[in-house]
Amino acid sequence: MMTELSLVIPSYNEEAVLPETASRLVLLLKRLIADHMISADSRIYFVDDGSRDRTWELIETLHASHDMIRGIKLSRNHGHQNALLAGLLTVPGDVVISLDADLQDDIEVIPAMLAEHRNGAEIVYGVRKSRASDSLFKAYTARKYYQVLRYFGVEIVPDHADYRLMSRRALIELGNFHEVNLFLRGVIPLLGFKTAKTYYERHPRFAGQTKYPLHRMIALAFDGITSFSSVPLKWITWLGGLISFAAMLTGAWALIIKLFTDAAIPGWTSIVVPVYFLGGLQMLSLGIIGGYLAKIYSETKHRPRFIIEKTL
Ligand code: UDP
Ligand code: MG
Repeated sequence: MMTELSLVIPSYNEEAVLPETASRLVLLLKRLIADHMISADSRIYFVDDGSRDRTWELIETLHASHDMIRGIKLSRNHGHQNALLAGLLTVPGDVVISLDADLQDDIEVIPAMLAEHRNGAEIVYGVRKSRASDSLFKAYTARKYYQVLRYFGVEIVPDHADYRLMSRRALIELGNFHEVNLFLRGVIPLLGFKTAKTYYERHPRFAGQTKYPLHRMIALAFDGITSFSSVPLKWITWLGGLISFAAMLTGAWALIIKLFTDAAIPGWTSIVVPVYFLGGLQMLSLGIIGGYLAKIYSETKHRPRFIIEKTL
């Protein structure tokens, strides 16, 4: 039984690269089919994420000339992560590989990914060898971001974006994660199973423009933290506690001035002490409420509490 491979490619306003991407992928799949690495019914699925250019028309044309090329059209722009998920959870195949439409992910490592899967890996991560094709700013912020995530206890694979192979097994389990604020890079390591990494050089974008301007990068980074960690809420509690303590000291100091010197300005103590104290108390309460909120938040996500890998 040969592996049926599906490629999933989220595409948003990618008319500039799509024909090139499609023809390179078709060549690759034909080669893999000829080498008996994948079955002849392997397919390429472009997920059109509500593009406003001719992306969908292009997909239709490509499908008309190559049966191998398929399309999934989303009702509107749902964002990269959701477009990816839509593909992952709907396409058939024993093995699904997700990659970007812009040819940044070197498609020549796909055979290596398939080999790792044959060796038993249910998930194979494509990991970048270097960040040479990134701006200094992006490389620096990415490195810092991975440190922050680790500090917050979020387990992700450094220098891995969304170029990965997943087996049907892993995909079924992924379907049990119901989070709305999706950050696949954080969710997938939670699946467990045997995993592997393949290394590749990330190219600059083949054509077109990045769909991740700074504000979207920040939004994704924020999702990555708040979807996986309640550490920031704990910070609020600590801050509140600290301010309350400082307020008590200030209060004591103000009382001393009032009772033991004649430097006190009338009314000052009675205003300043409650202001500090209440401020601290409010912070503290917010932190505690935040603690409960964090619980409700993780409950409403309905994540599976465990995943059974084998039964006898
Ligand atoms: N993408 C998408 N929906 C969006 C934004 C991006 O499907 O709302 C796709 C895009 O077409 C590309 C991939 O996500 O295939 C990664 O985007 P991009 O290459 O612009 O990001 P970068 O590589 O610059 O981080
Ligand atoms: Mg890109």
